[in-house]
Amino acid sequence: MKTIHVNLSADSYNIYIGKDILAKVGEIVAKDKEPCKMLLITDENIEKIYGDVVAESFRQNNFDVKLLSLPPGEEQKNIENALLLYDNCFAHKLDRKSLIVALGGGVVGDLSGFIAATFMRGIPYIQIPTSLLAQVDSSIGGKVAVNHPKGKNMIGCFYQPKAVFIDTNTLSSLPSKEMVAGIAEVIKYGVIRDAELFAFMEKSMDAILQLQDEALLKIIATSCQIKANVVEQDEKEKDLRAILNYGHTIGHAIETVTHYKQYRHGEAVAIGMLYATKIAIELGIADTSVFDRQLSIMKNLGLSIQTGLKSEDIIKALYTDKKTVSGRLRFVLPTKIGEVIISDKVNDEMLYRVLDKPL
Ligand code: ADP
Ligand code: ZN
Repeated sequence: MKTIHVNLSADSYNIYIGKDILAKVGEIVAKDKEPCKMLLITDENIEKIYGDVVAESFRQNNFDVKLLSLPPGEEQKNIENALLLYDNCFAHKLDRKSLIVALGGGVVGDLSGFIAATFMRGIPYIQIPTSLLAQVDSSIGGKVAVNHPKGKNMIGCFYQPKAVFIDTNTLSSLPSKEMVAGIAEVIKYGVIRDAELFAFMEKSMDAILQLQDEALLKIIATSCQIKANVVEQDEKEKDLRAILNYGHTIGHAIETVTHYKQYRHGEAVAIGMLYATKIAIELGIADTSVFDRQLSIMKNLGLSIQTGLKSEDIIKALYTDKKTVSGRLRFVLPTKIGEVIISDKVNDEMLYRVLDKPL
């Protein structure tokens, strides 16, 4: 098991990564926390496979566990379900010393974190992410939220977990499309911060897709470490944290234009990374190998990269993104593999030029 320590101004916590962790979570948590009332939140897919082992692990350590599972899917991350969960917190008599545990993908993690942040002005919570995307991204850094009809993650705040437990075994049941979408975020970490991680992805994709232990531990631990470092330096996204949005500016626009139905988040981000790189090449700050190397990994993964969307629609969506600063678009652009800059020099004319050509 590998442990990564995240050190923030007001909180610090550990991320535990390894095999067979689910059965030990209760025991590890019990070392720092008196047994208490606990709401274990998951979704129906995950409950079937991992609900019992996690609930049992806490019960054996004298936690009073109530398990609640929601149907799977992004549309569940809404305020109505938040209200339902608050009702359950009251029904199970949770108080400020109780514990919320999120077992699942990003949907369960974001929603449960939001409940933990707001119930009685905040109670402790733990993340047990089971999708690759949640393991390398959403479970770390403390962004919690629910969606609003006006947009994804529009109602939320920053609230850090007490610990994150990543059991790499859970990936064996993850549908392969979800795995591939999660890998897109790992490619992102390579491009923004770590040429060595990127090179590892180039040479070891088979091992990753075959879920070999060492390869999984390497990509997950490295990604978590990068995210932890970035978040430690910029907890509330004032500047540096924005580099984590590489591929996300156009990625989010693609998700918006297609109403979140056609692409998984990671798939849209993959396309967004390729376009951002095309822009960097147009600006003369990156050479074509930066594009070719990313494209080659994505093709290896079987990611489809043509959108057939109208450039006009994508550009319109870019201006409605909540990250747009006073009407100006900010792009994270690679200068080489392992290094990015943030630029507000990308104009509409250049965007049309890049978006009008197939990738
Ligand atoms: P994400 O984690 O990509 O943000 P979700 O929370 O919606 O998004 O998870 C994606 C899908 O994968 C959901 O249908 C969820 O039930 C399923 N899922 C997550 N983790 C696992 C797992 N380890 N095994 C099987 N299915 C999983
Ligand atoms: Zn993302």
